[in-house]
Amino acid sequence: MANCQHCETPNPEGKFNCPSCGLRAHPPKWSTQFVVRETPMATAIRKDQIDFGSISMDKHIERTNKTNEQDRAMKMDKMIFGNDKS
Ligand SMILES: [Zn+2]
Repeated sequence: MANCQHCETPNPEGKFNCPSCGLRAHPPKWSTQFVVRETPMATAIRKDQIDFGSISMDKHIERTNKTNEQDRAMKMDKMIFGNDKS
């Protein structure tokens, strides 16, 4: 396995969280579904698929961005929508 993406600590066991810095050891590259499952925004996406129209995606994103998940939400955003988000 590669080293931690944050602190470069080796992560031979491939743990999800780095044993050194406690952050996610690796970029979520192996499965979009895996990523989608663990974020508030993913829940929003799933709800939109079921219930699209009752609340807009923008509102979900806005709400997500107001939480302490802001940074992660932005990363999710880029992964899902591309890097040219304005
Ligand atoms: Zn680390």
